[in-house]
Amino acid sequence: MDSVEAEQQRIVVVTGAGTGIGRETARAFAAQGPQVRVVAVGRRAAPLAETADAAPGRIVPLVADVTGPGAPERIVREALERYGRLDVLVNNAGIVHSGQGLGGYDREGVASLLATNLVAPVLLGQAALAALTESRGVVVNVSTAVAQRGWPTNSVYAASKAALETVTRSWAVELAPRGVRVVAVAPGAIDTPIGDHSGYSPEQRAGIRKWQIEHTPLGRIGRPAEVAWAIVQLASPQASFVTGVVFPVDGGAVVG
Ligand code: NAD
Repeated sequence: MDSVEAEQQRIVVVTGAGTGIGRETARAFAAQGPQVRVVAVGRRAAPLAETADAAPGRIVPLVADVTGPGAPERIVREALERYGRLDVLVNNAGIVHSGQGLGGYDREGVASLLATNLVAPVLLGQAALAALTESRGVVVNVSTAVAQRGWPTNSVYAASKAALETVTRSWAVELAPRGVRVVAVAPGAIDTPIGDHSGYSPEQRAGIRKWQIEHTPLGRIGRPAEVAWAIVQLASPQASFVTGVVFPVDGGAVVG
């Protein structure tokens, strides 16, 4: 077991930590100090290693596909074997598929969106429940601004995140008696590689970006670190009376 000072230690699991919002979130938690250790979960070793390079020893990579059989249990087990506790679970891993307006869906496409964006967070929360109860911990789910508005041509992505927000509110009430808080952040348009592997053409991505900027009152794309900031704040002990919220980090997109 790693020798973090027992009375101060705070152990965080971040999924999808090899790139984008997850990478910045892992780094932001690690930057809080040596009492914080981050288990950075993702499918590919190389990007995770790059994430961990920002804070060697404080960010520990763990290669796992969150949709894999037994993966949620293995992720929690590895955190507990290494550190003996788990304080924060950030369900950040998520995927978008392009070009699936109604008429373009098939069973596999719908199932894979739900498997990553909804089923994996649910099963990870379940696997972590005992440890989070022990630590009176926090779950932070990463949703999206389009969960509240809908996304024409991408209804199932929006629906998977809307369901995750409903899970957030339900768990907040269900787990409150255990002292576990459950919150979500809802990013607007953020500059990450998420579009690169979603099947959109460069022209489609450029069109989406243009539309997003036009519909964001602050008039720009957000940075991953701006979402990471919100995740760290909501997970902090100072946020001890905050649960069941979905916190927008969207430049005003939802109210605009
Ligand atoms: P990203 O593609 O950089 O990050 C997602 C990460 O999750 C990637 O590293 C990916 O490899 C990982 N991942 C995907 N499936 C996985 C699996 N089965 N197992 C393990 N890891 C897996 O994109 P991002 O924008 O940083 O996305 C992070 C979260 O933010 C997602 O849930 C996304 O839906 C949400 N979000 C992003 C935006 C945006 O504009 N970028 C807006 C709203 C919400």
